[in-house]
Amino acid sequence: MRLMPALLLASATLFAGSTAQAAAPNVVVSIKPIHSLVAAIMQGVGEPKLIVEGAASPHTFNMKPSNAAALQKADLIFWIGHGMEAFLEKPLEALSSKASVVTLEDAPGLHKLKFREGGVFEPEAEDDDGHDHGAADGAEAVHDDGDHDLQGFDTHLWLDPMNAKAFAQEIERRLVQADPANAQRYQQNGADLMKKLDALDAELKTQLEPVRHKPFVVFHDAYQYFEHRYHVSVAGSITVSPETMPGAERISEIHKKVADLGATCVFAEPQFEPKLLRVVTEGTKARSGVLDPEAGALDQSPDLYFHLMRGLANSLKTCLSNEG
Ligand SMILES: [Zn+2]
Repeated sequence: MRLMPALLLASATLFAGSTAQAAAPNVVVSIKPIHSLVAAIMQGVGEPKLIVEGAASPHTFNMKPSNAAALQKADLIFWIGHGMEAFLEKPLEALSSKASVVTLEDAPGLHKLKFREGGVFEPEAEDDDGHDHGAADGAEAVHDDGDHDLQGFDTHLWLDPMNAKAFAQEIERRLVQADPANAQRYQQNGADLMKKLDALDAELKTQLEPVRHKPFVVFHDAYQYFEHRYHVSVAGSITVSPETMPGAERISEIHKKVADLGATCVFAEPQFEPKLLRVVTEGTKARSGVLDPEAGALDQSPDLYFHLMRGLANSLKTCLSNEG
């Protein structure tokens, strides 16, 4: 009996050796949170390439020639969709290779929320450069390119682990389709990932229970999915679109909001200007913290998604449970 695993392994290797096992599919992924899920499912087979690397933000990203070259060589490309990664829309349309492009915002089973408008979330009408921020086309009136079907949902979909599970299922399915020789590996990794996502969800629910409904202010309006899942309450964002810095009127509106809320928390993000945070908290009792919803400060890895979500929960818990 003890010989069995070795025998199986040997025959598996032989079998794989006679097929195209050596060539793991060439996979390219747009942004870190999705890359992490793809990397987890590809563990033991290969590593996906990432486009928005390092501290870059998907909202302000510009394609480099190396990114275009990577897309051209890819067998499989994962992105959320044009609302999140606007910079990828034209390069993907222009792609002359046979790559399969997986638009994850179309994955079955996603829970989608309308892009929010109104109140302190109202986007500024002036100085709009016409770029989308996070919303699918048409979601924000002032950002509408006007050339697509209007669905109007917020595309920061990964900030609910149940959506991450829907992504993971679609990622697994498409990897199996593209590379059937490694199907078993993808399926096993996929099943492990689903279990870990459920455990993460339970952990965050427990952890955030004590700070439910305590209002706080964030840098950009990325958090709806997290709010709905864990009943935390964002009272406003400094900017709706990181591409467009807020004007004086919005700044003073947020400053008033922060002052009215009293001992609230205001959260910066690692990719963006911290000076604005000081301006909106000046003379108030607000505390400050950092949230990193797009993982600008995290190293790419199969575990990044878990670090990202735990990082959000820890920052919220730490700042909001400190009554000051
Ligand atoms: Zn965003």
